[in-house]
Amino acid sequence: MPDRADMRDAHPAGPARPALPAALTGGAVRPILIHPDPVLRDISRPAGEMSGPELRDLARDLVATMYRAGGRGLAAVQIGVLRRVFVMDAGWKEGAARPLVMLDPRIVRRSDRVAPGEELCLSIPGRPVTVTRPAEVEVIWFDLDGRRQRASLDGAAARVAQHEADHLDGRLIVDLA
Ligand code: ZN
Repeated sequence: MPDRADMRDAHPAGPARPALPAALTGGAVRPILIHPDPVLRDISRPAGEMSGPELRDLARDLVATMYRAGGRGLAAVQIGVLRRVFVMDAGWKEGAARPLVMLDPRIVRRSDRVAPGEELCLSIPGRPVTVTRPAEVEVIWFDLDGRRQRASLDGAAARVAQHEADHLDGRLIVDLA
């Protein structure tokens, strides 16, 4: 197992951490697993197996780690937690922070229209991959209060959600090139 401290150095501090909703502040920046770490290939288990407080701590750490690394999305498996949880904020570099925490997310609709786009992965530093994906998706998930949520996403948000959902099933962008 490589030295995690070295990996952190491979991700210099990103843009200044944006202002966050109070419920998501105070998380710890955790080391990010780097491909080809085999854990990244594991299938994550349902988020519902964790308690509410555990999920809140996990979400806080994911948010802190995502922003520090300069990413737009981060799945729990990327910090070594094999649960179906990811956070995303597709637009924070262009505007205010709007982190979304998705527990047990499922993509329930994909548009026929597809779009190519260059993607980066915090677990595969410095290797952008052009991936063609459905341009719009509909996602259902549970939030941290246990409420079911549903959203239609397009543009960068649709791309990030699909990228992070892939992580929960052990898929990486290098598989989709
Ligand atoms: Zn990724």
